[in-house]
Amino acid sequence: MRCPSFLDALDARRIVGHHLSLTQDAGRAHWRALPECPYGTPMSDLLPLTMAERLIRQAMTPFPVEAVPLEAAYGRVLRQAVHAERALPPYDRVILDGIAVAWRDGQTGWVLSGTQAAGHPPLTLDPGHEAALAVMTGSVLPRGADTVIPREDYRREGDTLILQKGVSPKRGQHIHPMGADCAAGAALLESGLILSPPEMAVLAANGISQPLVSAIPSIAVISTGDELVAPDAPVAPWQIRRSNDYAIAASLARRGLTRQTLLTLPDDLAILTLKLDEALDTHDAVVLSGGVSMGDFDFVPKVLAALGVQRIFHKVAQRPGKPFWFGIGKSGQPVFALPGNPVSALACCSRHVVPALLHAQGLNLPPRHVMLAAPLTPIATMTRFVPVRLGHDDQGRTLAYPCPMTTSGDFNRLGATDGLVTLPPGDTRLSAGTGLVFHAW
Ligand code: AMP
Ligand code: MG
Repeated sequence: MRCPSFLDALDARRIVGHHLSLTQDAGRAHWRALPECPYGTPMSDLLPLTMAERLIRQAMTPFPVEAVPLEAAYGRVLRQAVHAERALPPYDRVILDGIAVAWRDGQTGWVLSGTQAAGHPPLTLDPGHEAALAVMTGSVLPRGADTVIPREDYRREGDTLILQKGVSPKRGQHIHPMGADCAAGAALLESGLILSPPEMAVLAANGISQPLVSAIPSIAVISTGDELVAPDAPVAPWQIRRSNDYAIAASLARRGLTRQTLLTLPDDLAILTLKLDEALDTHDAVVLSGGVSMGDFDFVPKVLAALGVQRIFHKVAQRPGKPFWFGIGKSGQPVFALPGNPVSALACCSRHVVPALLHAQGLNLPPRHVMLAAPLTPIATMTRFVPVRLGHDDQGRTLAYPCPMTTSGDFNRLGATDGLVTLPPGDTRLSAGTGLVFHAW
């Protein structure tokens, strides 16, 4: 069913236009704009996962950039290139405590004439070879000196310093020359990486006190369903406790997407319209769960359309998560409407929502691959997501232990899992050892 090379060659932007006019005119919920595969195999009715990913990325605009105090930048996505403020080290730097001398072969004694501390302007060594200055780690090399002798290599008798037996210093030793690490202006950090401890040090060391980072989007996480009850409320036998919003909120928060509003709405057209309108007005992104399937009370696509959210697609060839709906609101906000089944919702969140939001923050994470620890069978016409627990083999390679679910609502046993692997559509059973793309929850 899949023709990746054909899909890759398509101009997806044209397809969006085509798809939208088709679906708006005909009011059809399914993806039908794709032509037949040129290799003779008919295309699936559903949008292939790779195309869904591409359409999301094309439709979303990057989140804006903001300057933040360096103290608040940890964990954020850097959105500027960083170059060396000056040559590093910026001066000939003494790398250990000792004495600085003008080296002469065979010399074994010096007279101490002063001390060069770190952070102080350079002293000048007396001319000739007799004088030595005490130097401290990190201090500038005194003018006229060319060699540093460590404390343990000489002994002190009054003001005289005598080389220990068996020690043979080399001219230029224990000095980290100016510019040895990098020249002024050298490229140090690229835009699009997460600021972790080393990058924080690079920013600080190069005088960037207000780095430019991606703004954290404000996200409305909305559950829909008349049956939903809060975790702390009494629950009738015909009701269920809402869990999707907590899982989705956690999945977003662990990626630094912490500006969230949680909301639960009933399957009521008027209330959904009012509240979704408000949510769209006040948030940079909306993540819904529930109400996107074929049920009589699945109002979400209808309400979103009425509120001017442009549907990019509805339904993707993936299991779990087929009813996934995606659109763009009037001010460009992405709207992800996920199916309500808890495994489907979380799978769609990890596989689509999180990567899309991170991409819009300017972050480009390479796909992570893991090795299957046990065989798995793909689905011929759809991408299959399988929850996995990660472990390691005796060579330290990451293994994925499948924890297949019986139904897409079977989430209570996901507790020990780390994320999901993606099985492309296919007819051939995947043996243990197969490499697959992994997405953490
Ligand atoms: P829906 O997509 O609205 O048809 O919901 C599919 C299934 O997911 C139903 O069994 C719902 O009760 C369940 N469900 C929907 N929303 C949630 C939620 N927030 N937490 C847990 N289960 C949910
Ligand atoms: Mg529902």
